[in-house]
Amino acid sequence: MSELRVRFAPSPTGYLHVGGARTALFNWLLARKQAGTFILRIEDTDVERSTKESVDAILQGMQWLGLEWDEGPFYQSDNFELYKEHVRKLLDEGKAYKCFCSADELERKRELAMKEGRKPKYDGTCRERADQPDAPHVVRFRAPQGGEVAFDDLIKGRIAFPAEELDDLVIQRTDGTPTYNFCVVIDDASMRITTVIRGDDHVNNTPRQIQLYQALGFPVPQFAHVPMILGADKARLSKRHGATSVIAYRDMGFLPEALLNYLVRLGWSHGDDEIFSLDEMIQKFDVNNVGRSASVFNTEKLLWLNAHYIKNCDTERLADLLLPHLSKRDVTTLGGPDLMLVVKSLQERAQTLEEMAERAVFYYNAPQGYDEAALAKFEKEHLLAVFAAVVEKLSVSTATDPAAIDALFKEICNENGWKMPQVGQPVRIALSGGTQAPGIGEIISVLGCEEAIRRLQDAAAFLSAK
Ligand code: GLU
Repeated sequence: MSELRVRFAPSPTGYLHVGGARTALFNWLLARKQAGTFILRIEDTDVERSTKESVDAILQGMQWLGLEWDEGPFYQSDNFELYKEHVRKLLDEGKAYKCFCSADELERKRELAMKEGRKPKYDGTCRERADQPDAPHVVRFRAPQGGEVAFDDLIKGRIAFPAEELDDLVIQRTDGTPTYNFCVVIDDASMRITTVIRGDDHVNNTPRQIQLYQALGFPVPQFAHVPMILGADKARLSKRHGATSVIAYRDMGFLPEALLNYLVRLGWSHGDDEIFSLDEMIQKFDVNNVGRSASVFNTEKLLWLNAHYIKNCDTERLADLLLPHLSKRDVTTLGGPDLMLVVKSLQERAQTLEEMAERAVFYYNAPQGYDEAALAKFEKEHLLAVFAAVVEKLSVSTATDPAAIDALFKEICNENGWKMPQVGQPVRIALSGGTQAPGIGEIISVLGCEEAIRRLQDAAAFLSAK
């Protein structure tokens, strides 16, 4: 194990967002690359907004992606005593002070500052207050004044904030609960985090946190702030743009490795490489190569990657992954064709497991109706003749593999003076109900000749009854 310790610290106020998943992935990759430790910490100090469902959804998302953590999950709500202890320490050392200003008073001052064009900032009324009444109060950090707070961000480079812009942060509320920035520092320090990789919506928190580290005598970790993910309209990616939850992508039929590959490339590059196995990601990922600007989420590219991974996926695994998508469609594979054969026949072309399941339905459920517009392109007599010829040929054939069955269709064409599309398309409609299906030889090979004959006869009966 190396010294490197990183963490992913989601707030359980919703599902695992793809942006969060990318942050988790970057942390995880760095930990795996440097044989470090990846810690999962649930930031649930906001009791009102944190829910058990969200915790479960986050853990489920992480597990589905395979981002296994080495330590945790730790819950901030278990650490209240630790936070309190550090508040007391800062108070004892004069690095924090009790502030008795009422919320109304602060609001009045804030409004006045805004009106006068000043930045609203705590005016320090209680900083040097001599009396300490036994009255409701918050605890504020006595932020060092003068100079600047700077850090070298691994992604954004040097970032400096003038200390005068940093407020005397409230670290403990009137009800005794600690505030967010304070908890993060205590946790990162007590978990000995060496590198903090997080969304750049936290950049403004970092100088305040650095001041706290310094006041508490903790080593300051390195920081890497990852730029946001945007929708196509360049606004921050949100539900408005489509699915943003990791589990929604699972349910839409994406493979975890496709989503990971997509996310790693979102804002990070390695030459022109697009496809990265997990091992390659671990080897090649470098947080210094994460771009400084926000990236736009591109569903087309994700679909392209997913199709790649589906095509190259082990068929048995794919069959397992496909099952819930089939159940969702009330398809049972019992008594039907071998699922492995079905998957093989669809794996080359499907972009998602949902699409694959949709296309697999006809193998298990005979068509309930036919694409009439497609059928109408042929004369009824022609269709009946084709179905009869195919039934006759299949009845006496022992062919089982796609190539042998395709050869039978060539014979049928030759014997009747038909062209392949004049036969193939009607048969595809009879067997699957529509025109979107794999090659004829493949379909029949998977369905079996007996079932194919039954479906051709049904289609003939349907036409004759018209
Ligand atoms: N809990 C914060 C969030 O979900 C992350 C804080 C951090 O990484 O420092 O945005």
